[in-house]
Amino acid sequence: MIQAIKGTRDILPEESGKWQFAEATARRVFRRYGFREIRTPIFESTELFSRGIGEGTDIVSKEMYTFSDRGGRSLTLRPENTAPVVRAAIEHNLFQRADSERLYYIGPMFRYERPQKGRMRQFHQIGVEVFGSVEPAADAEIIEMSTVFLRELGITGTDLAVNSVGCESCRPVYRERLRGFLAPRLDELCPDCRRRYQENPLRILDCKAGCRRFLDGSPTLLETLDAPCRDHFEAVRRCLEHLSVPHRVEPHLVRGLDYYMRTTFEVLTANLGAQNALLGGGRYDRLVEDLGGPSVPGIGFASGLDRLILSLPAGAGEATAGPDFFVAVQGPGSFDQALRLVQELRRRGAWAEMDSNPGRSLRAQTRRADQLRARHILFLGEEETRKGELTVRQMEGGTQWEVPASDLERLMGEVSRG
Ligand code: AMP
Repeated sequence: MIQAIKGTRDILPEESGKWQFAEATARRVFRRYGFREIRTPIFESTELFSRGIGEGTDIVSKEMYTFSDRGGRSLTLRPENTAPVVRAAIEHNLFQRADSERLYYIGPMFRYERPQKGRMRQFHQIGVEVFGSVEPAADAEIIEMSTVFLRELGITGTDLAVNSVGCESCRPVYRERLRGFLAPRLDELCPDCRRRYQENPLRILDCKAGCRRFLDGSPTLLETLDAPCRDHFEAVRRCLEHLSVPHRVEPHLVRGLDYYMRTTFEVLTANLGAQNALLGGGRYDRLVEDLGGPSVPGIGFASGLDRLILSLPAGAGEATAGPDFFVAVQGPGSFDQALRLVQELRRRGAWAEMDSNPGRSLRAQTRRADQLRARHILFLGEEETRKGELTVRQMEGGTQWEVPASDLERLMGEVSRG
């Protein structure tokens, strides 16, 4: 038997309502903030990610699904979508058309990670990008929006952590200070972190193998920010306070992508075990330029849809109602009429069903209507057909009444009121 690949999974109909609910909530909330959807391909040239995300990151060095196509091009299934969105915006001159642009995306991403609860190899992200503003108010605005998004999903008890990772002028200072601090413990670091120590010691702050225990008392990024970065961070915090967005400063928060500068943030939940990040993002003022575009600043976040679904309150997005109508027929003359009746009800926007087997007993049809949790059964028997009527039975309560078969307008009106 052929099975789904490890780290991927099927979203079955029982669950897809939750996904639709989460996606619809995102679209509704983001629209209020002026975001429009962008859809980019799920594979891109490998170079986009190695240049965009950074060669030294875990994502690029060990997690990408990279392959050559039949034409010998190196392609990669997207591990994240900020670089592709930037690529598309440059390619289609979005930055020349407007001095600011707000985009969101929803779709699958791919990373070769060790699967566990809340961590998949094909996972799904909903993300937003704001281009064209360096202002701290823009950072605070999307952070605030992320909290509104979670609230409207019904996800509570989350923890918002913010930090600043500085810029290319103050980060080297921090790097050196961190190296100095860790030098005496270098031998105790994991092999990955020993390499990170040389290449990019900031990555050690994000080590999954336990090296973070060596960071107690280490210098923090915030202490080494230069004046413009510090002012920016303080302004973001003031703005968050002004907008009543509870948050805490997490001085060791770094993110796994090299393009971030200044503001970074993450929303954590206590309910998911080790994979506790519901969303993460930050500012990336150099990325557009690094990928060959104009000098346009950006900020965004991505939330893990799979984890949001695991965190939804019970009942969210679950379908409760069944069909508006189940048409039950009795007698050979009624079946053809029922086919047209169902067609007409559907044309008017109702969810209508019938059994496609003309020989099914009335009992079996009623049972089926029950199983489907139909709200009404419409009986169409010999007598009804003769009289040109339908018997309507409201399933809840069992009330029955008759309506002229020609007056579906009235039927639709009566049931929508009931
Ligand atoms: P990142 O793109 O790494 O900044 O991640 C943003 C968000 O995507 C995280 O906070 C998670 O919610 C989600 N995410 C990242 N990697 C995975 C994964 N392998 N499986 C499920 N969700 C993920």
